[in-house]
Amino acid sequence: MKLTSLLYPRCCPVCERVLPEHPVGSKEWVCRPCNEKLSYIVSPRCMICGKQLYQKEHEYCADCQKIPHVFTQGIGVFGYDEAIQHAMYRFKYEDERHYAQFFAEALYTRYGYRLSDWGVEVLLPVPLYPLKFFTRGYNQAELICQALSQISQIPVDSTLLCRVRPTKPMKDLNDEERAKNLENAFQCSANKVKYKRVLVMDDIYTTGATMDACARALKAVGVEKIYCASICIGNGY
Ligand SMILES: [Zn+2]
Ligand SMILES: [Zn+2]
Repeated sequence: MKLTSLLYPRCCPVCERVLPEHPVGSKEWVCRPCNEKLSYIVSPRCMICGKQLYQKEHEYCADCQKIPHVFTQGIGVFGYDEAIQHAMYRFKYEDERHYAQFFAEALYTRYGYRLSDWGVEVLLPVPLYPLKFFTRGYNQAELICQALSQISQIPVDSTLLCRVRPTKPMKDLNDEERAKNLENAFQCSANKVKYKRVLVMDDIYTTGATMDACARALKAVGVEKIYCASICIGNGY
């Protein structure tokens, strides 16, 4: 056993128990009982946002039927249920930054082929407002992008997309308030590299209002296809 694994044993991000020592290169991040509890999104998915559907004959989720999106298409790894909520909370608020590796691997294992099919040129994290970034110390979406970049070899650009004003937490707002809350919240610095196909990364997707606001800003600087990826997709509010 390596000294680092004695000092910093790898813990399951869901139950926080120490994982048994795995062979070198093993990709197991979650203990078996927890892995069974996680709701990986499987087919049928919404053809636009990637949300879990429960009836084969449906092509789009209720939200996507109601709201035309600005972004092109999206993917998500988990349904936002209790097991992943705790892990996501620790990742965002309790400094468990290394979970980014688990999330990026879970995403790439399932959707790496989509990134190639889409011809994604760059990974863009949904930015935090600077004050929030300084109080938290990191942008969780950026950490996932960096981990995903190492696996996929697609570069990250954390400067193209900026949040130019603070916004309220989306979970307490209705559709109309969400749209208003995000109005002109994002802007792009000049698209010097002339990206045409980008992937915007967020930790949680609900109705897609944040992704649409980012997509609007990206279209304004000439990006043609805006794909989005989230670790969790909630079922509305
Ligand atoms: Zn566990
Ligand atoms: Zn949808």
